[in-house]
Amino acid sequence: MGRILRGLAGEGNLRVVAAETTDIVEEARRRHGLSPTATAALGRAMTGALLLAQLLLKTPKERLALRMEGTGPLGGLVVEADALGNVRGYVKSPQAEVPLREDGKLNVGELIGAGVLRVDRSLPSGEVYTSTVPLVSGEIAEDLAHYLWQSEQVPSAILLGVRVKGEGEVEVAGGVAIQVMPDTPEEVLSRLEANLAGLSGITPLLREGLEAAVERLLAGLGFEWTDLKALGYPLNEIPARFRCRCNREKALEALVFFTPEEREDMIVEDGGAEVVCHWCGEVYRFSPEEIRSLVAEVRCPDCGTLWLYPKADGTLFRIEGDTCRCGRKVEIPSEKRAQA
Ligand SMILES: [Zn+2]
Ligand SMILES: [Zn+2]
Repeated sequence: MGRILRGLAGEGNLRVVAAETTDIVEEARRRHGLSPTATAALGRAMTGALLLAQLLLKTPKERLALRMEGTGPLGGLVVEADALGNVRGYVKSPQAEVPLREDGKLNVGELIGAGVLRVDRSLPSGEVYTSTVPLVSGEIAEDLAHYLWQSEQVPSAILLGVRVKGEGEVEVAGGVAIQVMPDTPEEVLSRLEANLAGLSGITPLLREGLEAAVERLLAGLGFEWTDLKALGYPLNEIPARFRCRCNREKALEALVFFTPEEREDMIVEDGGAEVVCHWCGEVYRFSPEEIRSLVAEVRCPDCGTLWLYPKADGTLFRIEGDTCRCGRKVEIPSEKRAQA
């Protein structure tokens, strides 16, 4: 379990969000079999997404997705978080690794390489707002701060840290985001800059505990913790966790994208089918009976595009419009419509 704390400093001009994510990042490492530097990369991105979700999302239903695509050996990563403290994510090449930097730190920037950060933010209306910015360093904290400034006009300082030990297990992970409100007095800004200057990353501070780390970063700025109990959190913290939205029904539904012939081959050759969720690594195994239960679909006779199938939640997927992508007119037999 991780946790998120919030606070204000500089007479309300600095909004502070802090997250302890050690267990979350360790779970991601185990689920995906991540190398040490891939653990740091995904761990920083997951922590950053949790912090950004607190700063940017307005309702519990909204979600924020970060996609980093770079020229480095990682091949990219994807992370999704909401304001309730749920986060999930994966990387393209979990075992990719690069040598340590000269200062002995994990070289996340080189693992990711040059590229872009794309942020998809769902709005309360359900619309998705997408913006893409070039990566500044691939070290993630700077890239997220750059995004907040470029796309959201939010000046901020972001610090993210993941420390691994021994075989690569996560010793400590977490981060802090400090949002600077417009018209913040100059003396508040210079004090904040002085506090941040000379800091060699947040990881050494995190080892003393999240509260101590935050109070140190905001020393002399009249920092006060937000009363989260008053907002309905009994432990005075927002619980955070690695949580995927996959389940057995959705996994079975994924098999509908194979043709009935391909599914029959799976039964004959493998005695069933396995669906692996790329977000969390969960493996779902299905019996021949379960696979054969997927019969109510209708496909285009020309190109095989799915026209109709019953979804896991009991609703019906139906192709939009009357024309298939191959140009054929969509015709769904009436008995199939009734059956579904
Ligand atoms: Zn999953
Ligand atoms: Zn077609």
